[in-house]
Amino acid sequence: NLDEGKQYRLTWYISWSPCPDCALELVQFLPMNSHVSLRIFPARNGHEDGLGDLPDAGAKLAIMTRNELQHCWDTFLDNGQPFQPWTNLVEHTGSESQELKDILRVRFLPPASPSPSPSLPGPVSSSG
Ligand SMILES: [Zn+2]
Repeated sequence: NLDEGKQYRLTWYISWSPCPDCALELVQFLPMNSHVSLRIFPARNGHEDGLGDLPDAGAKLAIMTRNELQHCWDTFLDNGQPFQPWTNLVEHTGSESQELKDILRVRFLPPASPSPSPSLPGPVSSSG
């Protein structure tokens, strides 16, 4: 029960992007709660279903990069160790970010024909 006269900015740091059930909950919750703005930083992409609806609902979605990882390390861990980026961090966050962009972009492609097709082909991922 949040005070609707106030603005709430939430930032989630999560290991995996929201599952379809949670994404649907958020898509229903956020438009009815305009005093809540949500940023979601998953470390990796999980199930992609439902993610594409989140930006429409007002949520910001981006893969954790070095900045977010360091922020989490400094804020939530108290082990006295400085943050040490691991060797493939940049490659990992880069490829996960690209994958997420592809997931979200598919959502915004204009329909090819006025009649809705029952099943759209999934995004073609090329590696290499
Ligand atoms: Zn879930």
